[in-house]
Amino acid sequence: MQTFPAALPLGGKTVVVTGAGPMAEAKLRLFLTSPARLKWLAGDGASPPGFAGRVESPPHAPEAADFAGAALVFIAEADPSARRQQARWARAAGALVNLVDEPEGSDFQTPALVDRDEVVVAIATGGAAPVLSVDLRAAIERLLPPRIGRLAALAREMRSTVKRVLGDFEARRAFWERVLRGPARDLALAGDQEGARRAFLDTLNRPEAPREGVVHLIGAGPGDPELLTLRAARLLREADVIVHDRLVSPEVLDLARRDARRINVGKQRNHHPVPQEAIEALLVEEAQKGQRVVRLKGGDPFIFGRGGEEVAALRAAGIRVEVTPGISAALAAAASSQIPLTHRGLASSVTLASGVGRRGGPTPELRALVEGTGALYMSVDAAPRIQAQLLALGRDGATPVALVEHASRDQERTIYCTLASLASTVDSEAVTGPAIIFLGEAVTQGAAYAPAPAQAIQREAQRA
Ligand code: SAH
Repeated sequence: MQTFPAALPLGGKTVVVTGAGPMAEAKLRLFLTSPARLKWLAGDGASPPGFAGRVESPPHAPEAADFAGAALVFIAEADPSARRQQARWARAAGALVNLVDEPEGSDFQTPALVDRDEVVVAIATGGAAPVLSVDLRAAIERLLPPRIGRLAALAREMRSTVKRVLGDFEARRAFWERVLRGPARDLALAGDQEGARRAFLDTLNRPEAPREGVVHLIGAGPGDPELLTLRAARLLREADVIVHDRLVSPEVLDLARRDARRINVGKQRNHHPVPQEAIEALLVEEAQKGQRVVRLKGGDPFIFGRGGEEVAALRAAGIRVEVTPGISAALAAAASSQIPLTHRGLASSVTLASGVGRRGGPTPELRALVEGTGALYMSVDAAPRIQAQLLALGRDGATPVALVEHASRDQERTIYCTLASLASTVDSEAVTGPAIIFLGEAVTQGAAYAPAPAQAIQREAQRA
């Protein structure tokens, strides 16, 4: 170990920053939300913009007395001899000194920080490679739940109560392991501090109760793991059991713990290996064993994902269930083909629709697609019928259409046609992967949009 990142409690401490400019402001900003008293010595008595009321700023040139009682001093003063002088005054007052941009002359270096209030992670590279610590910091930011500090605050608040209730050291340790990995943690990280407190006390009062299971219904997005939410990625890492669909990509599943159990209940088109009721029973059963279950669905669980049914089944069984949204296929397809779903002057509504109803028949909601932008799911096989129905309902045969297949995946492609040539295009282009059909004037804004030749449109329209 070349450096030691000691953690200094800041309550009641004074932090001093000298000098003007962005370096000084950056140091002040670091401490803005801390309980430390902040002093800025720049000589003009002004507060840097955005710091008014938080920072004391004497209206005279820095002098020895300004450093009295300081714990940490950052010297961002530019003038070399003034820097030396200030460092001497600061050390004489008993402070640790950081000469900004001069690691050799400093008592300590400023680590890269991931700041979650009660929880702080410091990354120190001994000043050797600041860029390295910035990148590491970004990686840790992604890993660390934003509300982890709230969980730590709850633990601090409860510490003495726990000590009173559980006299034995081993019992306390076992309790902390249990409570900080159980429902109290989930609720705190989800922002429900009251619920977290209740769950905490419940765990404390019923030490013998079996571990409570939970099901997280999670949207896995369209396939590219970068399109997962941070929360989805975290819950995936924490899962004991993962129940997933066919549409969930292997790259997303790779984010799970290696020892997590994976169960594929994927449905193929026209082929249902695991019936819906069996999936629901499986979720209930695993949660009742006290497992952290992740039910992972392509796109968003509440858009053609039967998420509503699963939530209802779990609620009915008294299982705790939480839902994390995902990027639905239509949104991913819109982004990658650069087709805006609403566009001033072209489309002021968007309808997410399925081209097939229950038992494979037409959906009555197709009527909603005579205006605005339509985004059709599960509709490639039904293209001939959808085309005929929409033309019959009065949508123009020349309406621009885009088919986006395998959105966000390597094999992705976008094919443009018109409503009148939709069915023949599905045929001639052999669209067999999962695809979204967009229809409406907004499609003309797509990155590679090329209008279909007018003649072809007419011919197709006559045939339809
Ligand atoms: N819950 C999912 C939709 C499941 S229904 C979501 O929100 O995206 C399955 C349909 O989603 C497919 O028939 C196809 O229309 C669409 N789909 C899923 N993944 C897709 C992808 N990567 N590219 C294009 N369409 C996709």
